[in-house]
Amino acid sequence: MKSFIKNRQRIRKALIIFSFVLLPVTFVYISCPIITQGASEGIITGGLIVFILIFISSLFLGRLWCGWLCPAGGLQEIYFQINNKQVNIGRLNWIKYITFLAIFTSIILAIRSAGGLTTIDLFYYTDHGISIAKEGASPKFYGQIIFITIFALSVGKRGFCHYFCPIAVIMITGRKIRNLIRWPALHLSADMNLCTDCRKCSTNCPMGLDVNDMVRRGNMENTECILCGGCVDACPKQAIRYAIH
Ligand code: SF4
Ligand code: SF4
Repeated sequence: MKSFIKNRQRIRKALIIFSFVLLPVTFVYISCPIITQGASEGIITGGLIVFILIFISSLFLGRLWCGWLCPAGGLQEIYFQINNKQVNIGRLNWIKYITFLAIFTSIILAIRSAGGLTTIDLFYYTDHGISIAKEGASPKFYGQIIFITIFALSVGKRGFCHYFCPIAVIMITGRKIRNLIRWPALHLSADMNLCTDCRKCSTNCPMGLDVNDMVRRGNMENTECILCGGCVDACPKQAIRYAIH
């Protein structure tokens, strides 16, 4: 356990970048247009099931998926080498809620036009489960990569997550439901008395959050926090930790 904690950020980065490397195989499972296309044919696709599982996970683990496993997150963290500008979160992050609403509505309308969901096809729009092997999949794959790249390079640290990602909204919704009903879930917890305002937590936050300010306000709950543990591991005073409550 001690060696896991010592190497936690290395392990996290390795996992999330490996997830990005697997994206040619997996991108169909996180592609909203392909989920909608499946729904219009009355099919519960593998992607739809992944979205439902992500929602369920968020009820207990918040946005842990974003911090540890999301391939789009892995791609954006690679771009930190080129642009690690902190994102102005409040300005345009409402766009992702509009994106989510548009996609959610289109899935519901697609299900209605198909007369309901009648079959399950886990490997829908893949060739034996491999996304890129499907005929005509390459433009969709490269389109997604280019789109995420534009956000990462123009907006800054995890710009796509902050401004556009509809999957983020699924998890934010799950987290808000949990916070309303309050069952045990994974959180950050901080002791402001230990904090020396060195700001290493803020500098190391891949979401560009002002973690030092969160510690000072005594409120570590933030819809943009992906529970990556970057701040936990960067703090020289061990003022921040993971907690379940
Ligand atoms: S606040 Fe901490 S756990 Fe949350 S995203 Fe930032 S570094 Fe990661
Ligand atoms: S890294 Fe720790 S000590 Fe430094 S500002 Fe953040 S919480 Fe405070």
